[in-house]
Amino acid sequence: MFSLSFSSKVCINLGKWSSIRQYTVNKLSKPQKKQSTVGNNIPTNLEWLSKCKDWRKVVNIINDNRIPCTKSSINIFNNIAVNAFLESDHALGWELLHKMSQKNFQPNCESFSAYWHYCALHQETFAANVEQMFEFINKNNVIVSKNVIEDLSNKIQHFGGICSPSKMDKIGQCSSCNYQMPPLQQSQLEFNTLKREFEKVLKPKIPSIELAFFRQIVNKKKIFDYAIDSLNVTRIFPDFKGNLVKQGEILAKIVKQLRSNNKRVIVIGKKHVEKIPESSINLIRRNATVYLTKHNEAIDDLFMMYAIFVSGSKAHFVTNDFLDEYWMEFSENGKILFRNWQIQHQHFVTYDPKTDLVHINAPKKFICNANKSTETGQWHIPFTQRPLLHSLRGFIPIPIEWACINFKS
Ligand SMILES: [Zn+2]
Repeated sequence: MFSLSFSSKVCINLGKWSSIRQYTVNKLSKPQKKQSTVGNNIPTNLEWLSKCKDWRKVVNIINDNRIPCTKSSINIFNNIAVNAFLESDHALGWELLHKMSQKNFQPNCESFSAYWHYCALHQETFAANVEQMFEFINKNNVIVSKNVIEDLSNKIQHFGGICSPSKMDKIGQCSSCNYQMPPLQQSQLEFNTLKREFEKVLKPKIPSIELAFFRQIVNKKKIFDYAIDSLNVTRIFPDFKGNLVKQGEILAKIVKQLRSNNKRVIVIGKKHVEKIPESSINLIRRNATVYLTKHNEAIDDLFMMYAIFVSGSKAHFVTNDFLDEYWMEFSENGKILFRNWQIQHQHFVTYDPKTDLVHINAPKKFICNANKSTETGQWHIPFTQRPLLHSLRGFIPIPIEWACINFKS
């Protein structure tokens, strides 16, 4: 059982929620009195109003003005979802969650908590409703935080189920029930489909002359094992901003690590890479092919992905960018294929300033996502100690813990 800090008392009354709805703002979202609008011309008092008893007026304003879900409006969408679930307006709550996910945002802790509250009102549909959210978590690669799981755990136990903390070993076997998580895989057919769709995304963004030139470079080397987005990985630590010496050292360390075992590496960047000290750039050029685009737009990552797609399904890439702006341009099927490919091929870089060590985090070997056993109906839900930013996804290199859940004990 989650014994660390879980309350044994099942919380299904409206107490804590009613206080939120009576008091219009909390410390995280004070209304800005002097400023009448925020980004995308969204009136600031909408966020305030979305927490009030009259919150449904905001739904009309959003619909009438077609206000999209953005960083500026995400709190409003979450507030409405919370109120909808608390008033058992299940359809509206889900409508808001889907609008968030379409724009690649994930619901906040309060939205999950309000949904669990809604589920717990009806014992006969409790498991089915909770599973509906698990399916949503799975489809959108959401990683919830520990308090979301703790809140749910209380309710599952109340209805006679089990929700226990567990760990996954390196190959994805659950320490609690020995369930083996499915391995990550993508067929050659799926890879080829994705590659074709990627080229449609790529072509309008890169001048055909430059693309033809880059294609020659990639074809000459035949294949690369790794492509690095230099601009991104050299800025992994805020203090490195403008520090070309440090950026050069970091990039050289990454190239050297990847180059071991005769792996072929390409570094993609902009002209600024040439400004890093000679000692580093020489080391980088000795160990990797370097391609610096003259293009003003931030499209280095497109070249990086192109090099990898041409190099085949076993090639990997290194960047801390989530590539969401490209992901959004794929078809519905393409989005699934792209994310699956990304999870299996993207390496993230982390840096420890105390030891000055750079760590290249390899992709996981198994699906790090909500999963249901087809044999036992057992669910495994990943979570983190603290909430992630609302736009982050589960494939990033953060410590992941697991909840092993069975609705029937
Ligand atoms: Zn398990």
